[in-house]
Amino acid sequence: MKNLLLGLLSPSDLKLLAPHLKPAKFEQHDVLFETDQQIRHVYFPTGAVVSLVITLSTGEMIEAAMVGHDGVVGASAALDGKIALSRGIIQLGGDIVVCDIDALKSAALQSPRLLALLIRHEQTVYAQAQQSAACFASHQVEARLCRWLLRARDLSGSDNLPFTQEYLGEMLGVRRTSVTAVAHTLQEAGMIKYARGKIQVLDAKALQENTCECYGSVKSLYDKLIGPVRK
Ligand SMILES: [Zn+2]
Repeated sequence: MKNLLLGLLSPSDLKLLAPHLKPAKFEQHDVLFETDQQIRHVYFPTGAVVSLVITLSTGEMIEAAMVGHDGVVGASAALDGKIALSRGIIQLGGDIVVCDIDALKSAALQSPRLLALLIRHEQTVYAQAQQSAACFASHQVEARLCRWLLRARDLSGSDNLPFTQEYLGEMLGVRRTSVTAVAHTLQEAGMIKYARGKIQVLDAKALQENTCECYGSVKSLYDKLIGPVRK
């Protein structure tokens, strides 16, 4: 399984879910669900990357968390509530395994191990959102852009990231001109190459040295919550 969580399922949990897992393809900027909307499916990305964004009445949206092949989108809504707390948009197009929420809930109620895995995963999404709030309040745009690019690179498995400056500005909640200035600085330092809506990561190690603590903090929490399941 290319999705880490599906790969962690025991044979019996996988047997419960397998009949309800359907492969699907999504394009960049597709919307999976809107805030406050009833969720009908959960999404296990295998190639696509999903952004969970908070929308404002002015039309702006700011990213709270990013989920890819390391996780699942919509699990807490599947377990209870069924209401999306954010908008789910496809940040990078690709494959996703889609599961009906009732099937996931029924399987989780039959398997304490699966339920625990889903709850732990939802904690990692919550941790990302909390860290993003602290990051937005306290850290510089340059460090935040480095963090964002590193996370997108980890989830896409590629050094080539197809994002416009407008999109990056939206995700980070800053003006496009700020993104332009910071991207220019990173390019001058040889960390990235930027051209017409395409970013190429040239030196990931340097990005790690220039990002804030938030990148490492979220990674470490993820390893503590999900890592032990893997062992
Ligand atoms: Zn930060």
